[in-house]
Amino acid sequence: MLLIRNSNLVDWRRSSRTTYDILIDDGVIKKIDTRIDCSDADIIEAKGLVAIPGIVDPHVHLRQPGYEWKETVESGVLAATSGGVTSLCAMPNVMPCPDSVENYHYVRSFQSDTVIRVLQSCSINQNLSGRRNNWKELYEAGSIVFTNDGLPVDRNSDMAAVLWFSKETGVLVAEHPEIPEFDKSLGNTENAVICRDVILNERIGGRLHLQHISLASSIDFLKLAREKKIRFTIETCPHYFIETSEGLSDGFYEVYPPIRTDNDIEAIRRAIVSGLIDIIASDHAPHTLEEKTSEVPARGFSGVELLFPLSYTALVSEGLLSLQALTKLLTFNSSNLLGINPACLEEGERADIVLFDPNESWIVEESSMYSKGKNTPFLGKKLEAKVKYTIASGKIVYPFIGESV
Ligand SMILES: [Zn+2]
Repeated sequence: MLLIRNSNLVDWRRSSRTTYDILIDDGVIKKIDTRIDCSDADIIEAKGLVAIPGIVDPHVHLRQPGYEWKETVESGVLAATSGGVTSLCAMPNVMPCPDSVENYHYVRSFQSDTVIRVLQSCSINQNLSGRRNNWKELYEAGSIVFTNDGLPVDRNSDMAAVLWFSKETGVLVAEHPEIPEFDKSLGNTENAVICRDVILNERIGGRLHLQHISLASSIDFLKLAREKKIRFTIETCPHYFIETSEGLSDGFYEVYPPIRTDNDIEAIRRAIVSGLIDIIASDHAPHTLEEKTSEVPARGFSGVELLFPLSYTALVSEGLLSLQALTKLLTFNSSNLLGINPACLEEGERADIVLFDPNESWIVEESSMYSKGKNTPFLGKKLEAKVKYTIASGKIVYPFIGESV
């Protein structure tokens, strides 16, 4: 048994003014009360700390199998737990790609003993861009998220078909909105893809999820679409609403969608505050230093461990959003998106809990990152909110054994 003493509780439904004790037994929250005595429980003294539900990150590249020099399931999960993430969804651009039942089971075999909940998405097309996969077989094998992330769904007919499949079964269709061949000549094609998808889904009504939205013009369109009650969810990432650090080598700013203008950053921030954006995800995309500093730098940022502290610093510390509202974006909406039971601070619920210190500031440094990829454009940035404990299914998974708080 584990007893958390004297912490404030915040989830999307409540924000406590008084402190509470939380008793955890057998992976679930057994009791919450102003004072609990339990002589045979391990005790975490949490005075001054805030307890929130475990963070759910629906957009993570774990790189294994196939790209273990960038990240492994083990190192990715260490990074996740150090940032308070207790559930995540892994993207399918690994090798082999989970585009068949056999490959799906093979990729899953690397995730069998993780200390946090790991879901694995399957691709929509063979190896992200070929003919259509057999979605029904993959769904029956356990996959509930379909995406070609890294690439968009190229053919209109495939997008319509997978949205119909989503409507029948309830699986999630996540879109990476980009037209790669226009990257250089036309730029900013994010909104062209989201327009196609949203308009198709207006007629179909599947579960469409728009990944890493980054443009003010996308927000303008999506605002109108939301008023029409078209079914879709919107995700953004910290690097689309937070200014990055200055002075790093060029490759450290290379990502898709690219870092946008101040006007876009402001629009994304406003769309978070207004509730138009449903979810903040990391799009954790670790690479080696060599890959980021080469002539054609690899795209993507390492970020699963920074998702919560970055969001907290930019939104809650700045007074734009309450912590309660932030937990809605980082836990409640994202767990609903993935179809998992949302962790909440209630008796009987799964004990996925983060304890953090809202008054401890710290600096993002390579040495403080657990991911193999130290490729973040937020190096050197001062953040508020330090995760002190991550508890997943009732077990302390951070700090790691042998490390102190
Ligand atoms: Zn993507």
